[in-house]
Amino acid sequence: MNMYDYLIVGAGLFGSTVSHILTQHGKRCLVIDKRPHIGGNIYTESINDINVHKYGAHIFHTNDKHVWEYVNSFVEFNRYTNSPVANYKGKLYNLPFNMNTFYQMWGITTPEEAMRKIEQQRKEAGIVDPQNLEEQAISLIGRDIYYTLIKEYTEKQWGRKATELPAFIIKRLPVRFTFDNNYFNDTYQGVPIGGYTKLIKEMLKGIEVQLNTDYFSDRKYFDSTAEKVVYTGEIDKFFNYCYGHLEYRTVSFETEVLKGTENYQGNAVVNYTDAETLYTRIIEHKHFEFGTQPDTVISKEYSKEWKPGDEPYYPVNDDRNCALYKLYKKLADEQSKVIFGGRLAEYKYYDMHQVIASALNLTKTI
Ligand code: FAD
Ligand code: UDP
Repeated sequence: MNMYDYLIVGAGLFGSTVSHILTQHGKRCLVIDKRPHIGGNIYTESINDINVHKYGAHIFHTNDKHVWEYVNSFVEFNRYTNSPVANYKGKLYNLPFNMNTFYQMWGITTPEEAMRKIEQQRKEAGIVDPQNLEEQAISLIGRDIYYTLIKEYTEKQWGRKATELPAFIIKRLPVRFTFDNNYFNDTYQGVPIGGYTKLIKEMLKGIEVQLNTDYFSDRKYFDSTAEKVVYTGEIDKFFNYCYGHLEYRTVSFETEVLKGTENYQGNAVVNYTDAETLYTRIIEHKHFEFGTQPDTVISKEYSKEWKPGDEPYYPVNDDRNCALYKLYKKLADEQSKVIFGGRLAEYKYYDMHQVIASALNLTKTI
């Protein structure tokens, strides 16, 4: 007889949501994670009393009231609104692209002037049907902003020419003709007071969790523990890379405690959009929770090409990888015991609210 109804591989947001709902419905769950902590990529760790986003800046945002109420049922969220600042060779610009940015770039003060300027640059570039990120960006906000705030940052972040990247990546960012620095358009936004680890801890309350436990260290044994498996790891690894490796972009962080510095950069996120600065951005973690501690903690984020063995961060949704994923997905659909979900198992550029929505959907079908 199985000891559990469900074995959940991965204590990230997807695995935690699924196991929370299943447990509420009387199912016996075991959650395992190969890392020494819960939370997957949203894990926060307290350093000098500051919640440090160990795997990169995380801001929760959604239009889905149900998802917002779901996360707020575990922990209170603050009113943090993401408004990154871009630093290009020492000059600062507001993001996303809005009237403040247009004023800083061109000295213009009205939406009409801004629209005229962008239209003129778009016409000069002669792009009718944008085929890649560069063309898409120039037709959205013109050449000056593209060359100052987008091209070099994007090429640093993705390690590829902007002309070789899909247009959809840049469409994630709003373009506004109002003085509004909110990076997102969603109705609900914030950061859990006390950090994301607190959120996950609450979700996993009363559920058996084994850390430092890799599913692949004894796959047969783990499969035998439960009737069903929910797998949130890399899909290609599950099938022994039988069709080859899916690719990712990876990031690394240089984290420093600045003793005696109360406020290093005045904002949680500052992007460095020039090519000479090797990091893409600096995160000052205390600002996510309006911290007033006497010290501060900053992380410089570097973007790197992924190689097998590195931590996978961003799926590279280009044609080659999408085709490869389809082959793995077909194998996954043939599995009767194992359900695949989350950023790695679905090879999707999911934000947190989308991960939760997908996990809630899955539990409905279960
Ligand atoms: P993960 O968090 O990756 O969890 C998967 C877990 O499975 C991991 O803990 C892993 O250790 C475990 N695992 C894998 N294989 C095994 C195995 N063999 N055995 C045991 N355990 C295993 N989203 C937002 O909404 N807002 C943001 O601002 C935002 N910023 C981001 C910034 C960065 C740099 C990145 C990379 C992502 C960001 N995201 C953001 C997205 C967010 O991190 C993800 O949507 C979310 O963390 C995905 O959760 P998950 O459970 O699917 O995956
Ligand atoms: N981007 C840019 N300059 C910036 C911020 C973003 O060119 O200062 C581009 C970059 O190509 C990035 C895309 O916009 O990949 C989407 O930005 P977002 O902040 O959503 O990226 P994330 O790091 O969250 O994936």
